[in-house]
Amino acid sequence: MERSIIKIILITLFSLMVGVIESNEEVNNFGIVIHGGAGSFSGLDEKAINSYEAGINEALSAGFKILREGGTSLDAVTTAIVILEDLPLFNAGKGSVYTEMETQEMDSSIMDGESGKGGAVAGVSKVKNPVLLARMVMDKTEHVMLIGSGAEKFAEEIGIELVDPSYFYSEKNLKRVRKSKTDEKLGTVGAAALDQSGNLAAATSTGGRTNKMTGRVGDSPILGAGTWAQNGLCAVSGTGHGEYFMRLLTAADVCKLMEYSNLSLEESTKIVVNKLTVIGAKGGIISIDSDGNISTQFNTKGMARGYQTNQLPRTFKIYKDD
Ligand code: ASP
Repeated sequence: MERSIIKIILITLFSLMVGVIESNEEVNNFGIVIHGGAGSFSGLDEKAINSYEAGINEALSAGFKILREGGTSLDAVTTAIVILEDLPLFNAGKGSVYTEMETQEMDSSIMDGESGKGGAVAGVSKVKNPVLLARMVMDKTEHVMLIGSGAEKFAEEIGIELVDPSYFYSEKNLKRVRKSKTDEKLGTVGAAALDQSGNLAAATSTGGRTNKMTGRVGDSPILGAGTWAQNGLCAVSGTGHGEYFMRLLTAADVCKLMEYSNLSLEESTKIVVNKLTVIGAKGGIISIDSDGNISTQFNTKGMARGYQTNQLPRTFKIYKDD
C-alpha cells in the first residue's frame, strides 16, 4: 500500500518535471532594449524626465508588440527608432543638433544578426527617418553605407520620405550651437532586439555632436563601432563620444568578447565600458543576448534607457540607481 503511494507520488513529480521542461522549450525568449543618449542629465526637472520616459516607453511598446506578435527583431528596432527620430526631444531625425556651419547632418545604421548584413547612411540632411534609409541600403543594395547627396538620391528613387531641411529647424538647438560651442545635447537613439525565432538586430540614429565639423561622421553609422548584431551572441547599440567608439570598435567588442572568451553579456559589457573609461571616453551601451538577457552599462551620470522582454516588465531608467 505504502509502496504504491510512493510510486504514484514519484510518477506525478516526474510528469510535472517533464511538463516544466517541455513548456520551457516552447517559450523562446524575446525582448527589446532602447537608449536615448548618455551624459550628465543634470538639472532635469520632473517634466523633462517624464518626456524622456514617454518617448522611450512609446518606442518600447511599439517594438515589443511586434516581437510579441512574432515579428522580426529588425522590424522591432526599425519601428522603435522611427518613433524616437520623430520626437524633437532626441538628437536624431527631427531633433538633430547643428554643425559648426549650422547645418544638420544625420547618421544611422542597422544590422541583422541572422544574415550578418548591415546598412548605413551618413551626412544626410533631408531624410525624415535616416534609419529607414539605412534599412533600405541593407535590403535593396549590395552596399553597406551611402553618404550625403548619393544617399538622398537613393532615397528619392525608392520612395523614402525626403523633407525640406526646415523640417529639422529647432531654435533650441540653434541656440545651443551659437551660445556654447561645447554644449552637448544628449539623445542619440538606439535599439537592440531578440525575436522569437532567435534572431538579433540593432540600430542607431543620431544628429551627431553639437558644433561638429561639417562632414564629420561618428560611430553611429559604423558597423562594429556604434551598432552590432550577431546571432547566437548579442545585439548592441552605443551612445557617447563617437571617435572613441570608432577606435575601440565598441559595439562589436561586446559580442566578440563573448565569442572568444566565453564571457556573459554582463561581463563583456562591463569590460567594454571600462575600456572606454580608461581612454577617457564618455558614453554607454545597451545590449541583449541570444537568451534574452539585457545589459545597460555607462560611465556617465546617466543614460536614458528602457527595456521589456517576455520575462522582464517594461522598465525605464536614467540614472544609475533609479
Ligand atoms: N555617438 C554619437 C556621435 O558621436 C553621439 C552620441 O551618442 O551622443 O555621433
